[in-house]
Amino acid sequence: MDYNFTTIIEPFRIHSVEPLRMTTSAQRASAIDEAGYNLFNLRAEDVLIDLLTDSGTGAMSRDQWAAIQHGDESYAGSPSWFRFEAAVKELFPFRHVIPTHQGRAAEKILFSVLGGEGKIVPNNTHFDTTRANVEASGAEARDLVIEEGHDAATLHPFKGNMDLDALENLLATRRADVPVVMMTITNNSGGGQPVSLANLRGVSEICRRYNVPFFLDACRFAENAWFIHEREEGQGNREIPDIVREIASLADGMTMSAKKDPFGNIGGWLAMNDDALAEAARNLLILTEGFPTYGGLAGRDLEALAQGLSEAVHPDYLRYRIRSTAYLGDALTRAGVPVVRPIGGHAVYIDAKALLPHLDPLTYPGQSLCVALYLAGGIRSVEIGSVMFGRHPDGTESPAAMELVRLAIPRRTYTQSHIDYVIEVVSAVAKDASSLPGYAMTYEPAALRHFTARFKPLG
Ligand SMILES: *Cc1c(COP(=O)(O)O)cnc(C)c1O
Repeated sequence: MDYNFTTIIEPFRIHSVEPLRMTTSAQRASAIDEAGYNLFNLRAEDVLIDLLTDSGTGAMSRDQWAAIQHGDESYAGSPSWFRFEAAVKELFPFRHVIPTHQGRAAEKILFSVLGGEGKIVPNNTHFDTTRANVEASGAEARDLVIEEGHDAATLHPFKGNMDLDALENLLATRRADVPVVMMTITNNSGGGQPVSLANLRGVSEICRRYNVPFFLDACRFAENAWFIHEREEGQGNREIPDIVREIASLADGMTMSAKKDPFGNIGGWLAMNDDALAEAARNLLILTEGFPTYGGLAGRDLEALAQGLSEAVHPDYLRYRIRSTAYLGDALTRAGVPVVRPIGGHAVYIDAKALLPHLDPLTYPGQSLCVALYLAGGIRSVEIGSVMFGRHPDGTESPAAMELVRLAIPRRTYTQSHIDYVIEVVSAVAKDASSLPGYAMTYEPAALRHFTARFKPLG
C-alpha cells in the first residue's frame, strides 16, 4: 500500500545540541534598555529564539564537521581550496572564482573596480551592504523591482523579478554610466521573493544587447531554484543543480555570501568570466582579504563550504526548508498578522506599516515591533524599513518603501515547536499592536546606521 502522507518532516535528526537560556520579562526589559533599544546590541545569551538573520547561523551537518578535519591550512595552493573551487564551479562554472571572508568583501572589491562617481548600478532590490558598497564608491544604487514587489499584499509567484522595461529604458538613455547590472536571488530586502528563470533570461538578453556585464547577488540561489522548480511552467522535472547552472549561464559573474544557502558560518566569493576584471579584483583581494587561494578564509572553512554546497541543492532539504518558512507565515496570516505574501524562502516579513498604522514611518514602526517581540517572548528579529534605508547619502531622511520586520529562519536550527512558540508570541503582540510606542534615534553612525544606532521610546 502506497500511502500519501502530507507531513513534511525535517530531513535530519539532531546530532548535538546547544542549550537555550530562558529569561524573565524584567531581565529582557533591562537588557533592551541597556542595548539602546537596538536588537543588534543585545547579548545573544539574552535571546531565546534568534531570528535576527539566517546569515552564518545555520547548523552544519555531520559531513561538514567531518570535512573540517580535512582542512589544509597551507598558505598557497591548499587542497581545500581546490575542493572549494571545484564545488563552486560545479554549480557556477565561471572562469574565475575569488574567495572572500563574506559577501560584502566581494561587493567591496567588485564596486571598487566597477563603481565610481556618476555611475548607476541597477538591481531588483539592493541588499543593505550592496547598496552601501555601491554608494561608498560614489555610484547610485537604483532598485528596479517590478511594481508587485513594492506591495506586501499582492500575490505574484516571482515578486523579485526585475522590471524589464525600466531596465531597458535605463540602458537606452544611460548605457555609458551603467558598469554592471545586478540581480539579487532571492530578493532579500524585498521579502525573500524569488526571481523567475524567464525574468533572468530577459535581463540577460537586455544586458547582452547593450553589452553590459550581468552579475548575480546569489546568496539564496538554491532557494530561488527551488521556487523556479515549484512555480515556473516547464521546470518541475528538472534537477536543482541543472536549474542553478542555467541561471549561472545567463550571467557574467556573481557576488556571494556563503553564510546563506551554502551552510557556512563564514565565507563568500566573487566570480566572473572576464580576465581583466578578475585580475583587478585579485589585486584588491591580496590587499585586503588574502592570497587568491584562501581569500579571508581558513582551509577548514573552504572544506565546510564545499560540502555545504552539495547539501544546499538537495530536493528533500529544499522542500523542507521552503515549507517550514511557509508554515510560520501561513500561521501568522491565519492569526490576522499582515505579512508579505507569498511567503519568501528564508524569512517571514511582517508588514509593520499595516500592523502599526498609528505610528509615523519616521518613528520607526518596524523597530517598535522588533522591541515588542523581544520584550514579550525573547525573540530577536530585524527591522527592514526606515531605520535601515531611511537615511540617504545626501544627508536627508525619508521613509523607506516598506516598513518590514523580518523573522529570518536559520537553516536546520529550530524545530517546529520553536516555531509554534514564535507564532504564539507574534500573535499575542499583534493583538496589542495599537499600544506600541514610536521611537526616536539618540545616536546614529555615518553609514549602515541600523547596526549601531541607539533609540529611545516616545511618549
Ligand atoms: C547577506 C547578504 C549580502 C552580504 O553578505 P555578508 O556575508 O553578510 O557580508 C549581500 N547580499 C544579500 C542579498 C545578502 O543576503
